[in-house]
Amino acid sequence: MKIVDIKTHILDFKLDTAFESASMRFDRRQHLLVEVECDNGLVGWGECLGPAAMNAAVIEGYKNRLLGRDPLQTEVIWIDLYHTFRDQGQRGLSITALSGIDIALWDIKGKFFDAPISTLLGGRFRDSVNAYATGSFKRDGVDRISDVVAEAKRYKAEGFGATKMKIGFNLEEDLELIREVRAAVGPDMKLMIDANHGYQVDEAIELGKRAYQYGIDWFEEPVVPEWLDAYREVKERQPIPVAGGETWHSRWGMLEPLRQRVVSIIQPDVCGVGGFTEFRRVVDLAQTLGIRVVPHVWGTAVQIAASLQAHATIAPAPVRQQPLDAMFEFDRTENPFRQAVVKKPIEHKNGVIEIPNSPGLGIEINREALEEFALK
Ligand code: CA
Repeated sequence: MKIVDIKTHILDFKLDTAFESASMRFDRRQHLLVEVECDNGLVGWGECLGPAAMNAAVIEGYKNRLLGRDPLQTEVIWIDLYHTFRDQGQRGLSITALSGIDIALWDIKGKFFDAPISTLLGGRFRDSVNAYATGSFKRDGVDRISDVVAEAKRYKAEGFGATKMKIGFNLEEDLELIREVRAAVGPDMKLMIDANHGYQVDEAIELGKRAYQYGIDWFEEPVVPEWLDAYREVKERQPIPVAGGETWHSRWGMLEPLRQRVVSIIQPDVCGVGGFTEFRRVVDLAQTLGIRVVPHVWGTAVQIAASLQAHATIAPAPVRQQPLDAMFEFDRTENPFRQAVVKKPIEHKNGVIEIPNSPGLGIEINREALEEFALK
């Protein structure tokens, strides 16, 4: 079997209402799917985290090294692509682009061996996951507090047992938001906060100290990812567990944060950290050091399917009668093509998602949706 073609699909939609995290503004949704085709007709799909057009350009750069290769040689291909672009590409787009390719190759491998990717990776520790609702961004033209409170109540009514809200805008307003959401959803729903690296270190410490009383499960990306010392300070000087990792790419990007224990929870993204090939290494690294893994997920149903396969393979740590919940990030913000790209949408029921059990990623692509939402 040989790779004969690689195509990228930039999907695009202009949002009705723009929204913001502390560090980014979204007025469009754009995500990149990767399609790898083989000489025997097998096709694999992947997705890249991050700017779609730039990921597509990097994949174009990888293409010549991929055509004619055996797609089952996932490890060999990963090392070859990494090595070829190492001098300028240890982190960032070279790795997010490589992630999309690696996922597509694993999809092909699963279809070739007629098994889900999780089976090929050693089997699944769970067949379903508790999802948490990701949303609660700052939306244009509405009152932030009442809007996010209504959104959190909606998630509770849908059956979610947990939700994560966006902070990192303004310390006092962020604290008011956390207090109001907790009051609205009651004591039983798990709440997490994500600053999208919007704070200075002292602000993050103050917020953590004052938000602790509202029962927060984790405090995500308090400061910019380059500041490992600041991360450590936030972890040591306020009581909420610190999470991070969606922008630390490859085993080498993950190594120092893990070794220095600057987070309590590491959040690798299979579409960013280097695909399945690298995701498993990062999980091994984290679990060797005793750091909890709760992956990051943000994209279409292709990314969700890949993340579900990856999630299935994360061993409970520690193994015990009632293991820590392996929570699954489930984006609920506006994105009409998120589920339209697959024939059978991946939905939750009362906050629980079943992990697909058919070959590869376990999805079938809806090409009409790819056409409808193609960047024009
Ligand atoms: Ca995040």
